[in-house]
Amino acid sequence: MPYNKIFDQAIESLKQERRYRIFADLERQAGQFPRAIHHRPDGNREVIVWCSNDYLGMGQNPDVIRTMQDTVGRMGTGAGGTRNISGTNHPIVELEAELADLHRKPAALVFTSGFVSNEAAIGTIAKLIPDCLILSDELNHASMIAGIRHSGAEKRIFRHNDLEHLEDLLRQAGRERPKLIVFESVYSMDGDIAPLAEICDLADRYDAMTYLDEVHAVGMYGPRGAGIAERDGVMDRLDVIEGTLAKAFGTLGGYITASRSICDAVRSYAPGFIFTTALPPAIAAAARTSVRHLKTSGAERAAHQANAARAKAAFREAGLPLMPSVTHIVPVLVGDPGRCRAASELLLNEHGIYIQPINYPTVPRGTERLRITPTPCHTDAMIDALTAALVSVWRELDLPFVSQAEGAASAPLEAVS
Ligand SMILES: *Cc1c(COP(=O)(O)O)cnc(C)c1O
Repeated sequence: MPYNKIFDQAIESLKQERRYRIFADLERQAGQFPRAIHHRPDGNREVIVWCSNDYLGMGQNPDVIRTMQDTVGRMGTGAGGTRNISGTNHPIVELEAELADLHRKPAALVFTSGFVSNEAAIGTIAKLIPDCLILSDELNHASMIAGIRHSGAEKRIFRHNDLEHLEDLLRQAGRERPKLIVFESVYSMDGDIAPLAEICDLADRYDAMTYLDEVHAVGMYGPRGAGIAERDGVMDRLDVIEGTLAKAFGTLGGYITASRSICDAVRSYAPGFIFTTALPPAIAAAARTSVRHLKTSGAERAAHQANAARAKAAFREAGLPLMPSVTHIVPVLVGDPGRCRAASELLLNEHGIYIQPINYPTVPRGTERLRITPTPCHTDAMIDALTAALVSVWRELDLPFVSQAEGAASAPLEAVS
């Protein structure tokens, strides 16, 4: 059997569709973010990174770095095993208390990644509820879909952020049937936000449980950085809030916060929690420092929003087809996988700017885009240079510009559905 041929053909079909992924070989530099070294066959070159999910630059925060270094020095590198086999390292206990406090929930449970937290928690929660029906937003992240599949529960998909459609499905299921509504706050490819209070109202009316992924909001929204639910004053109305420590908090790991019963049940039943080695103590300690820092410091959040607004205004002014994001995420529509990749390559090779192309299946076909994530570490000069580079690439690839009037209204949301 020519096994390798199977894989070569699978790769070839991605290449033909122009969505074969190429990763840039980058070296981050603490203290210099968003600058990074690009390792290339012809030598190294400095680039400006414009697509990092280290949204606030906390990955180079001096206190976070120092905590990680100190903890490695005191406790060593690895966790030494699963929590089941080897006990829980104390920094994880402290981190869970910090996260429960952040979201004002009785308990928290930490996982090795946000992906694992969704897969393990949704999978276990929906499996434990008898005859559970899952109602899932159509744009939910792959990790939530993995959890839904893993649970074996029946699922219905509601149109993105569509309250009427969600209510139809809740009504059809009836008040009596156990139901779990699974959704995100900030959707990371479009930068739109779910109507959290209205979804909670529906959950109350039809007696459903709610599970919210705040991965792209924790650290960045709300007075203490607990996310959109905090900003909107509805944290106590959500049964489970899930987040990551790997994006705005700049480290690694995922978590849920919820009632003691839910956290204890997931701890006790989820294979993705039980059968994998815990986060190293140094990562847990650094993550806690980052969470604590952003609880009291609003400076990063303010600068982040200001820079995102600045970038959007500059793109609009230049006639670039900005998609209508209401958040820190700045998507620019290309609408074709080949040209999306070509734009990314031109930016990298000609302009020293790194922006990964976003193609299907991450976004629907026809909505391929450059997803730009300004951080507090980008300067005004960097924003100007980026805008000029985009305009030059748009001309070179003959991509459409929009007039300022149509700017915000064009292509975007309807193109996504
Ligand atoms: C990135 C992401 C995750 C996974 O988080 P990791 O910590 O990177 O594994 C979960 N949900 C959403 C919406 C994400 O974008």
